[in-house]
Amino acid sequence: MSRESRKFHVPDELANLYDFANTLDLRKFVHHGVRHEQAEELATPSALGAWMRERGLGEHGPPPSQKQFENALRLRQSIRDYLRCDPAERPRKQGVIDTLNKAMEPFSLRVAGLGKAGMKLVAAQSGTTPGLSAIVAELYDGAVNGSLNRLKMCAAEECQRVFYDRSKPATRRWCQSTLCGNREKTRTYRERYKAHASSDG
Ligand SMILES: [Zn+2]
Repeated sequence: MSRESRKFHVPDELANLYDFANTLDLRKFVHHGVRHEQAEELATPSALGAWMRERGLGEHGPPPSQKQFENALRLRQSIRDYLRCDPAERPRKQGVIDTLNKAMEPFSLRVAGLGKAGMKLVAAQSGTTPGLSAIVAELYDGAVNGSLNRLKMCAAEECQRVFYDRSKPATRRWCQSTLCGNREKTRTYRERYKAHASSDG
């Protein structure tokens, strides 16, 4: 859970996954005359280690190795590519699924009984990267209970932020309709107007 996930009412069960997908911030739109600064939260292995520690993922240990770091970035990219697909289309995106499966391989899980709290998927090994297994577990749980279908990537090319769609029909395409949605609608209108004007002339 983070300030962002709380602000946008992302369910706690998906909060680590949501935050992880958004550690890469590709937003570049201009809002109130200011261009949004793109950002990479996981620029180095130690930045990844700090990010995991902040969320209580994994143990206090040495920072991730270069290899573990690369595995983490591959996992993030394949998750973003999966979430970019329309939820109805996801089951048919075999290439995207294959890449995601490959990226999830280093993050193995096992089932642990928790007594009153039931059972849970936890990292199969101890060490640094297993901290990220929690994210793979959230992905699995979300796929089982259907909430993953509400986790999407904003359709605006200059945004690409992952958001949680809380609308009843779950048909939202933009992280914020008032910003990203309006920008796109205005652009479509302008293009249509232009096309119309030139076909008239
Ligand atoms: Zn957006």
